[in-house]
Amino acid sequence: MKQFKTESKRVLDLMINSIYTNKEIFLRELISNASDAIDKLKFLSLTDSNVKSDFCVNISFDKEERTITVEDNGIGMNEEDLEKNLGTIAESGTLAFKKENENDGAEMIGQFGVGFYSAFMVADKIEVFTKKYGEEKAYKWESCGAEGYTVTETEKDGDGTKIVLHIKNDDEDYKYSDFLSEYKLSSLVKEYSDYIRYPIKMLKTHSVRKEGSSDDKPEYEQVKELETLNSMVPVWKKPKSEVTEENLNEFYKSEFHDYQNPLKSVYAKIEGAVNYDTLLFIPQKAPYDYYSKDYKKGLKLYCNGVMIMEKCEDLLPDYFGFIRGVVDSSDLDLNISREILQQTRQVKAIASSLEKKISSELKKMIESDRETYEKMFKEFGLAIKFGVYSDFGMRKEQLKDYLMFYSSKKEKLVTLSDYVKEMPEDQKEIYYACGESYEKIAKLPQIEKATEKGYEILYFKDNVDEFVAKILDEYDGKKFKSVSEADFTEGNEEAKKDLEEKSQEYKDVLSFVKETLGDRIKDVVLSKNLKTYPVCLKAAGDISIEMEKVLNSMPNAEGKIKADKVLELNADHNVTAKLKDLYETDKEKLKKYAVVLYEQARLIEGLSIDDVSEYTLALSEIL
Ligand code: ADP
Repeated sequence: MKQFKTESKRVLDLMINSIYTNKEIFLRELISNASDAIDKLKFLSLTDSNVKSDFCVNISFDKEERTITVEDNGIGMNEEDLEKNLGTIAESGTLAFKKENENDGAEMIGQFGVGFYSAFMVADKIEVFTKKYGEEKAYKWESCGAEGYTVTETEKDGDGTKIVLHIKNDDEDYKYSDFLSEYKLSSLVKEYSDYIRYPIKMLKTHSVRKEGSSDDKPEYEQVKELETLNSMVPVWKKPKSEVTEENLNEFYKSEFHDYQNPLKSVYAKIEGAVNYDTLLFIPQKAPYDYYSKDYKKGLKLYCNGVMIMEKCEDLLPDYFGFIRGVVDSSDLDLNISREILQQTRQVKAIASSLEKKISSELKKMIESDRETYEKMFKEFGLAIKFGVYSDFGMRKEQLKDYLMFYSSKKEKLVTLSDYVKEMPEDQKEIYYACGESYEKIAKLPQIEKATEKGYEILYFKDNVDEFVAKILDEYDGKKFKSVSEADFTEGNEEAKKDLEEKSQEYKDVLSFVKETLGDRIKDVVLSKNLKTYPVCLKAAGDISIEMEKVLNSMPNAEGKIKADKVLELNADHNVTAKLKDLYETDKEKLKKYAVVLYEQARLIEGLSIDDVSEYTLALSEIL
């Protein structure tokens, strides 16, 4: 018996005691080795006409004997190959093992070329029968794990390798016998190795009608038939010219269990720092859990047609987390565990290249397929807005052009670039107004004046919108400004003068109203920003009224957050004139007016009434 090299022994220990939770990947590893071995022989066939081309991988199992067999007709191994390949672990592993004190098993396993050894997670004995192409002798490698291995001569028909796994007995932690089933094995192939380029075959049992059995009393018998389990050709491996929209749609629907076609598909073959093929899809609808914590973003990651990760999160930034698809690269190290994969240089390189690709596709859509982009934004725009806002606006420059907001003028979503292009010359700022719905925003008092001046207003209906504007601060040199804070008398000297005079004239009335309302408001002023409405509220400090609502709706806020509010009275409204009359004739009544106007201003802003009984009493007395 030969001993494994020290390092290999330790890896084996890890495998046998299987810290790695995902035991079922052993099949994927063996199939992928088989496929590599066939690749090698196929390569020879280019120059050697003796090579037969009936390449395939065969899987079988024996429930009684508790064995699973994976057989290929690839290149095979001679004695030397066996020593070198199965007697020791890969070079990279030896190096990494020098880092002594790392005890995280799963992580360690990921660092080595442990593909073949992963079979020890499910088997307590492995036999390898193999004959190298073009050589006479066949060999048998056998091992029960850490003890060591033996290599002996054997007889074998045909070239290639047959691996027999003696499956472990079930214990309280794991039911190994689950693997000894047609269904389990074929689903594992479907799940992990569907796109292997060679047929993976297994005998499968079918129920067929017995020949000669009568129509009224049909009899059936069980027949075993050799079936190919994998579909073999991945869409993304086909030349682009051969792939139709229909192909992409069908692939998307079956792969991602969606009943609708994708809104947009992208098929790209990328060559650069890292090479990969990718299929990307934007779904029509956000999944039901998209905006919840349960949603898991990620792309399916393949290495040369072998799936290594169902959802590789690190390939997509959160703000593009709605994108689904597949990445297949030959530049990845396949024997990498999930934990480690996330940190590999190649994954990072693919992720950054993908992000560029996605960005450029979105840009193209904005320019030439606005309708689709708009649909996308309605479903997933919130994710992009969060992207702008999160991490202190780190990515705002990169993402700002992908934003869309509802425009008062166009009555549909527009980009910031659209908005700025259409600004009249005298307009210096980007105006926005906040509210729960477009309908409600359209009725805000401040909107009228801005619209009258011909300004376009962006309607902010999502909670995050105003935060996005604050973080952006400006677009194309134009500052964002809430209509409730904007001064529409800007440039209109006459109006300004009139306002100044009136404010002087109303000084005492205003301070009386302010006194009446107490600490509910910071100030009372006259305004020219209103048209038909007599009053409105505006925020004086950093926290806007909309933010007060949003922040208070968060858990634990308990209504503690208060925007400093200023009550604005329409300088040209009859009610304002009436206040002045009352100041001279009936101060008690004026107090009632103050309360009613203040509460109305709150209602208009979408805030609730501060003091319902005070308001109702005041109002009924006035009436
Ligand atoms: P890796 O595949 O990363 O090299 P493995 O431990 O899975 O690591 O396999 C070690 C080596 O054993 C392979 O590189 C290959 O040379 C050889 N090998 C494994 N399985 C087969 C097979 N079915 N046919 C021929 N060679 C094989």
